[in-house]
Amino acid sequence: MTESADIAPIRAAVRALCADFPGAYWRELDRERGYPEKFVAALTKAGFLAALIPEEYGGSGLTMTAAAAIMEEIHASGCNGAACHAQMYTMGTVLRHGSAEQKARYLPAIARGELRLQAFGVTEPTSGSDTLGLRTTAVRDGDTYVINGQKIWTSRAEHSDLMLLLARTTPREQATSRTAGLTVFLVDMRAVEGLTVRPIRTMMNHATTEVFFENMRVPADTVVGVAGEGFRYILSGMNAERILIGAECIGDAKWFIEKAAHYAGERVVFGRPIGQNQGVQFPIARAYIGMRAAELMVREAAALFEAGLDCGAEANMAKHLAAEASWAAADMCVQTHGGFGFAEEFDIERKFRETRLYTVAPVSTNLILSYIAEHVLGLPRSY
Ligand SMILES: Cc1cc2nc3c(=O)[nH]c(=O)nc-3n(C[C@H](O)[C@H](O)[C@H](O)COP(=O)(O)OP(=O)(O)OC[C@H]3O[C@@H](n4cnc5c(N)ncnc54)[C@H](O)[C@@H]3O)c2cc1C
Repeated sequence: MTESADIAPIRAAVRALCADFPGAYWRELDRERGYPEKFVAALTKAGFLAALIPEEYGGSGLTMTAAAAIMEEIHASGCNGAACHAQMYTMGTVLRHGSAEQKARYLPAIARGELRLQAFGVTEPTSGSDTLGLRTTAVRDGDTYVINGQKIWTSRAEHSDLMLLLARTTPREQATSRTAGLTVFLVDMRAVEGLTVRPIRTMMNHATTEVFFENMRVPADTVVGVAGEGFRYILSGMNAERILIGAECIGDAKWFIEKAAHYAGERVVFGRPIGQNQGVQFPIARAYIGMRAAELMVREAAALFEAGLDCGAEANMAKHLAAEASWAAADMCVQTHGGFGFAEEFDIERKFRETRLYTVAPVSTNLILSYIAEHVLGLPRSY
């Protein structure tokens, strides 16, 4: 599957930007668990984070293929798009389902970098992968909704102005269907009371948090689309999320493979390069094959997405294959480097920790396998 010629200059421009953010930049942030403000500002200024915002709203109006290439290049350069990737896909929910007023109010400001839409509040501590079991409630009171509950793993909440929030507006037992009764809100976190954000320190630098809502009142016009239909809107955004994160994993895999192949060619032990041993070169070749296969699926899913076709299965398979490929490449890269794979200054251990996330989030492997079993293979629903 060859890429169209207009993608190459985008890749080159991202690479050039990333060259200003070398390993030392990320290492220091990793040590302090600091947020890459300068990196995110540079991406925003260059218009990369507005890739999927249409030109009529001041965005770059690029395709999903181009957006995926941006995220891939960020990761293949050794940088980390997790600090800001959500803006690309959460925005899609507003674009597809928001009112004309919401789009006019928020999208141009997001595209200009004046507003940050980085927080995506879906997961809760009790319900976990069972999104329909979430317990955060939003109760209508005149022109407002009163929100109570808790989210967990709400990444970048401290570095965002807006949060796309999923809450239950109709009790589960009164909902007209299994998936009805959830509503999406576009919350301006700067303008509310009763919101508490607490950082969670994790094995990698991810700026993730837990968020508590205590009688948090939001205007009724913060509802995105129709109240009660939110689960459908969130699902439609998840395909974009899976494709973009799949592309990040492809970038990570390329970074690990390039590092390993280079090192294996240079490191001499027993009087010859370690890469001359099949025991060292085969795992690198295997990682490369796995990455290329996953890359094809990411491109297929992106092509279907931008053609407006159903891509649920492909987006899930792309994210699954890419996350497995990046993790396999990470493991291989540590092994190829021997002891140096553990040394901070090589960046491998940092990227290893960062890429480990993607077989768990934004959706874990088992849930993808369940989806394929049920929706593609017609097997009974298992949960
Ligand atoms: C660093 C980080 C950042 C995140 N960022 C965000 C964010 O910004 N916004 C957000 O909303 N969420 C975010 N998440 C949450 C993420 O999407 C969830 O962690 C993920 O979906 C898994 O949910 P869980 O952690 O509750 O695991 P659980 O649902 O508790 O599952 C635990 C394990 O059991 C397995 N399992 C559960 N049920 C079944 C079943 N029926 N069959 C087979 N296996 C099953 C799962 O596959 C998993 O391996 C983030 C998570 C992390 C760790």
